[in-house]
Amino acid sequence: MLVDVPLAALAGLPRAESAPASGRTFYLETFGCQMNVHDSEKVAGVLLARGYRPTTDPERADLVLYNTCSIREKAAQKVFTHLGKFKKAPEQNRSVAVLGCVAEQEGERIFDRAPWVSLVCGSASYRRLPELLDRLEAGERRVTGLGLDVDETFETDVTRRDHPFRAYVTIIEGCDKHCTFCVVPSTRGPERSRASGPILAEVARLAAAGYTEVQFLGQTVDSWRDPGPPGLRFSQLLLAAAQVPGIRRVRFTTSHPRDFGPDIVRAIEDCPAICEHVHLPVQSGSTRVLERMRRRYTREEYLETISLIRSARRPISLTTDIIVGFPGETEDDFALTLDLLERAGYDGVFAFKYSPRPNTPALEWSDQVPEPEKSRRLALLLERQRQIQIERNRKMIGQTLEVLVDGRHEARGQWTGRTSSNRVVNFTSPATDLLGQYTQVAISQAGPNSLVGEHTL
Ligand code: SF4
Repeated sequence: MLVDVPLAALAGLPRAESAPASGRTFYLETFGCQMNVHDSEKVAGVLLARGYRPTTDPERADLVLYNTCSIREKAAQKVFTHLGKFKKAPEQNRSVAVLGCVAEQEGERIFDRAPWVSLVCGSASYRRLPELLDRLEAGERRVTGLGLDVDETFETDVTRRDHPFRAYVTIIEGCDKHCTFCVVPSTRGPERSRASGPILAEVARLAAAGYTEVQFLGQTVDSWRDPGPPGLRFSQLLLAAAQVPGIRRVRFTTSHPRDFGPDIVRAIEDCPAICEHVHLPVQSGSTRVLERMRRRYTREEYLETISLIRSARRPISLTTDIIVGFPGETEDDFALTLDLLERAGYDGVFAFKYSPRPNTPALEWSDQVPEPEKSRRLALLLERQRQIQIERNRKMIGQTLEVLVDGRHEARGQWTGRTSSNRVVNFTSPATDLLGQYTQVAISQAGPNSLVGEHTL
């Protein structure tokens, strides 16, 4: 996903006292999850505050940055393919930087593989970026910000946010779960929660700046524990954020099934501003596979949590992540995952073939599932889920839903936005300026991934 920084974002940005008026340009491209997207907002803020200007053309940028993802092999490979285009950067007096999970995972080996790269910086070192940029600008050829610095601050004074109405807020970093397939604990470090005071102060600042929707982020967001007084629970934090004047929606992602409790469902039931959507990765429908994945819950426990969510007084939409072809996954295990799709009735599924990752136990296991079999299972699963989504979305026809409008598709003459349940709605309206507004839309059509309707005036 390209982080396309609008020039208008330059207006009113703070400028660091010591920042050189460099007049240099940067191109920043982001791969991976919302945590990475938000990290890129922080990085863009630092660069803008130093006087760099954004460009959408990597060929013309003085500084090219890739904020990388290593959750799957393909994503990591893609970065090296992109880097290959900048071999002549040093002789052109341009710099290339690798940030994020691949940077943390590969470290200084990146310099061996792509010697024209001059900055390698992991996500736990972004607060050191001004110092690292000083060294880069002074001509140093190999600058690194690596290591999982657990004393990092979550403060985001110069964050250059990408979206005008919806803002990400990191509330917890890292992960202690150590699933046997996942690189996150080694690329983002141990779990550390941010205190409720600074989180709520950031939400209040965002509301004052005109943001109406905040999305709390964390690799396991519901594992959040207030590190100091007042010692809020995660559900209490959601309720407190929802009460900040000006905030109309509070979202959160990603939840871990083991930490997801009834108090979160009660908070959603009781407070309309907390969005009626839970993303609850299951990964597999087979307890045997879940044990090997070290997910710390069984199929039955997961289904109990789903029943809890489904019995709520508000209809809560449910999405998940699934890995097919995990080492040792049999046809019976896979059948249990397909069966879980039916039982859970997901509104969206992000499904992927298992991808062996460095520094993870499952990489070494000998019972890997052959690639063609993984592809077959993935296609089956996606097709079944597509049908389920069509059936579920069709139930929305005839309803009137509130949509936060976040875009306009000129060619189709449609506005687009999202419901509290995170469904995408495309709709027509005679109104000329709806961006950032909450509007009522009567739903008339449904596809697997979006709804269509008309603005009710
Ligand atoms: S819970 Fe598991 S899959 Fe999720 S970030 Fe932590 S280790 Fe990775």
